Amino acid sequence: MKLIILGPPGAGKGTQAERLTSAHGIPHISTGDIFRENIKNQTELGRQVKGILDAGGYVTDDITNAIVADRLAQDDAKAGFLLDGYPRTIAQVQALDEILGDDSLTAVLELVVDDEEIVQRLVKRAETSGRSDDTEDVIRERQAIYHRETAPLSAEYRKRGLLVEVDGVGSMDEVTARLEQALAER
Ligand code: ADP
Repeated sequence: MKLIILGPPGAGKGTQAERLTSAHGIPHISTGDIFRENIKNQTELGRQVKGILDAGGYVTDDITNAIVADRLAQDDAKAGFLLDGYPRTIAQVQALDEILGDDSLTAVLELVVDDEEIVQRLVKRAETSGRSDDTEDVIRERQAIYHRETAPLSAEYRKRGLLVEVDGVGSMDEVTARLEQALAER
């Protein structure tokens, strides 16, 4: 099963991605997690991207594409994977097409949640996450960038017949059940 999960920051992608990947035995590949891990370990990549993450901007496509190509080349990703946080731009969609070649995606799951609900959730998450990009200003910036750069991806994957929209409002269990249902129907 080769999946992408899309949705605005705070839509609950990370949580749902964890659940789906453990249920289906596929790796959860989160570009945000990879960047944060590198920042924590003070790697060269971490030093390059820290300022960008703190400001809520996007890491350049070149860096991000290279990281994903590398990760998808590992053995555990051969049979399937769930990409979380990637692709985020149309250029990344094209890069992913090249990485995958004829290997087609099973589905692109989009969690649909409106902006105000999300700001409330993220401001709350900030109290416990310790993430330096979880402040209201940075959250709004991430949302604006998402609408500009990432929302067009839904249209692209819809055109390809891959998009499955799932209502992301409700309890975590309700949302998981909706996602599993949507996958079962494909
Ligand atoms: P969220 O979905 O809550 O914004 P993520 O963990 O997916 O959080 O990403 C955190 C940050 O990592 C992003 O704001 C961005 O700076 C960087 N990032 C993650 N994935 C990408 C990507 N595909 N392209 C560019 N930057 C990315």
